[in-house]
Amino acid sequence: MSGNPAGRERRSCRGARQAAARRRAGDSFAGTLAPMTNTLITGGNKGLGFETARRLINLGHTVYLGARDRERGEAAAQRLGARFVQLDVTDDASVAAAAAWVQRQPGGLDVLINNAGILGGHVAPPDVTAEVMRAVYETNVFGIVRVTHAMLPLLRASSNPVIVNVSSGLGSFGVVNDPGRLESEVHALAYCSSKSAVTMLTVQYAKVLPDMRINAVDPGYTATDLNQHSGPQTVEQGTDAIVRLATVGKDGPTGTYQDAAGILPW
Ligand code: NAP
Repeated sequence: MSGNPAGRERRSCRGARQAAARRRAGDSFAGTLAPMTNTLITGGNKGLGFETARRLINLGHTVYLGARDRERGEAAAQRLGARFVQLDVTDDASVAAAAAWVQRQPGGLDVLINNAGILGGHVAPPDVTAEVMRAVYETNVFGIVRVTHAMLPLLRASSNPVIVNVSSGLGSFGVVNDPGRLESEVHALAYCSSKSAVTMLTVQYAKVLPDMRINAVDPGYTATDLNQHSGPQTVEQGTDAIVRLATVGKDGPTGTYQDAAGILPW
């Protein structure tokens, strides 16, 4: 992103600091990190977003912690040493203001993690109305498009632009039709279909933006507020795939759908 020598110098000093931070953190993804990486995470104030922020900061990233609620977002950012940015993924003005704020940050933006998501309540498929669908899609699908559209000009200026879209195994046709998988017993019309949309929009972006690494992730069933902490995985386990794909280099995969174990069926 820094085209001038002074900028490159700042990058290389910070790269050395980041390498030291990675060695201290002993993180297994340390080898793939590009120097001086600035990362925006939506829904970063709790759950998987918060844990992703924590791990990426340990790896030396500068994290812009997006949250729709200023108080909760600022408190989370302060706990982690991240920079808070107000960002409601359903609100055009909030997203535009966040993009303008990111643009003013030294070093711009390298990695976008579209993590914010909602379940949309437990409504049996026959009872789901267009209104219920619209609310879930507004966050899980249109939110990703809104934020990605606003941040793409900033990502284009990065030497190694990366997008991670947090989808779900519940959006995988292969997984929900596999009787051996717990996901096959979940019937959530709005949530599951919204996450199928997330993987497809990941593929569509990846096809037309070959200079970026753009992948979708299934964190796996993880104990967070989203599921009243019923998931068997810890947030650390749930963020393994997110962190792995947030730290890929220019030769890393793109247009894939992965969980902690690797490639998932669509
Ligand atoms: P969580 O603890 O409920 O966190 C969700 C985050 O999204 C919160 O920070 C929430 O902010 C934020 N958010 C919701 N609507 C927003 C909006 N309009 N604008 C900005 N932020 C918004 O849930 P989680 O489990 O960490 O979920 C993170 C992602 O992982 C979601 O996309 C989810 O679908 C996906 N996922 C989770 C699991 C799992 O088992 N946990 C499995 C597969 C996929 P507030 O605090 O303001 O509500």
